[in-house]
Amino acid sequence: MRAYVDKDECIGCGLCAMTAPDVFRMTDDGKAEAYADTTEENKDAVQETIDGCPVCAIRDEE
Ligand code: SF4
Repeated sequence: MRAYVDKDECIGCGLCAMTAPDVFRMTDDGKAEAYADTTEENKDAVQETIDGCPVCAIRDEE
């Protein structure tokens, strides 16, 4: 499973990249992307980003 960031919604606050840096990173356009799969080890941090994103731009997809 890999999270998905809707770049049209993302406001570039950086929260997800700080909370789960092994899954999310900021890109040159100032938006976030998920660059790695959600794993057993990081799934709690990923869920925290989904819950914490101020504009609900992150989804967890199969
Ligand atoms: S937490 Fe949400 S708004 Fe902030 S950078 Fe991540 S995806 Fe974008």
